Amino acid sequence: MKFKLSEFFSSDVGIDLGTANCLVYVKDRGIVLSEPSVVAIKNNNEVIRVGIEAKRMLGRCPMEIKAIRPMKDGAIADIAVTEEMLRYFINKAKTFMKPYQRLFKPTVLIAVPSGLTEVQIRAVQDSALHAGAAKVKTIEEPMASAIGVGLPVEEPTGSMIVDIGGGTTEVAVISLSGIVEKRSCSVGGDEMDSAIIQHMKRVYNLLIGERTAEDIKIRIGSAYQVADIEESMEVKGRDLVSGLPKSILVSSQEIRIALQEPIASIVDTVRSTLEHCPPELASDLIGRGIMLAGGGALIRGLANLISEEMNLPVFVAEDPLKAVAEGTGKVLQGMNDMES
Ligand code: ADP
Ligand code: MG
Repeated sequence: MKFKLSEFFSSDVGIDLGTANCLVYVKDRGIVLSEPSVVAIKNNNEVIRVGIEAKRMLGRCPMEIKAIRPMKDGAIADIAVTEEMLRYFINKAKTFMKPYQRLFKPTVLIAVPSGLTEVQIRAVQDSALHAGAAKVKTIEEPMASAIGVGLPVEEPTGSMIVDIGGGTTEVAVISLSGIVEKRSCSVGGDEMDSAIIQHMKRVYNLLIGERTAEDIKIRIGSAYQVADIEESMEVKGRDLVSGLPKSILVSSQEIRIALQEPIASIVDTVRSTLEHCPPELASDLIGRGIMLAGGGALIRGLANLISEEMNLPVFVAEDPLKAVAEGTGKVLQGMNDMES
């Protein structure tokens, strides 16, 4: 067997290329980075900032700078920008490696949305190679997520994972290390933010930005009335009539109503996956239940709602935002055990 020095000394990197957040796992180190999937570019396409610093610019950019989210709708909106983003994350991951490992290009395992076509997957692989990877492998996001939260994916029993990200929700039933049934819909946390923006406009004539909407969702958003205690918060924006800044008080109850539509789409996607799932695997889920992951799983009361609608037990992953990246890490570790 040919012995390759670079394979021995280089390090492996797992990347969760999410629509909202990009997480990077370095083997033997764990998750080292978690930054928004945002790139700020100039008119001439020159990249100015990536990640956290680019997100700070969203909605606050001078005219000649655009902050964009290349993965926005679960597909690759802009492959050149995706490549720049990968380059930034691969280079930053290197700073967490041992000095000798930095001399070699890493092997990169990328979790990609399950809705991508073969051509799009090739495009991601090529851009990772251009961005400094030695070898690129891909894994479907729901599979990585299921492995990350510790579902028994290798067993001959059905497990269901629902990963609610920023741009998409991906639902999959997994058995014997394969995805048996999957559905994805382009409704996730972003649609919830838009629903809140619409609500504020319609009811209060108040214009708010995406970041304010996300803040409202995270602080007082819910899918189901979990407790009797309802909260409220002050929201600042611009009055559409006077054009001046204005602040109003909104309640968790009205936000729950505003969120009904996007949340119903997510519930429908789960239902349709269950309806198309082979009966033996569907019956496994009566005992095993459904696992929720992704940032959207953190909406309060979502597990209660899905459980009531599907009449199945529903659980929320311990750290839903990290599920996919943890999964890539476990796979990298496993690949290594197999090779040695
Ligand atoms: P992606 O995999 O598409 O990058 P993530 O799994 O990182 O997405 O989830 C991002 C989404 O989760 C965003 O829409 C964000 O607003 C939402 N989110 C994060 N934390 C919370 C929370 N505590 N409650 C509700 N939504 C949340
Ligand atoms: Mg994700």
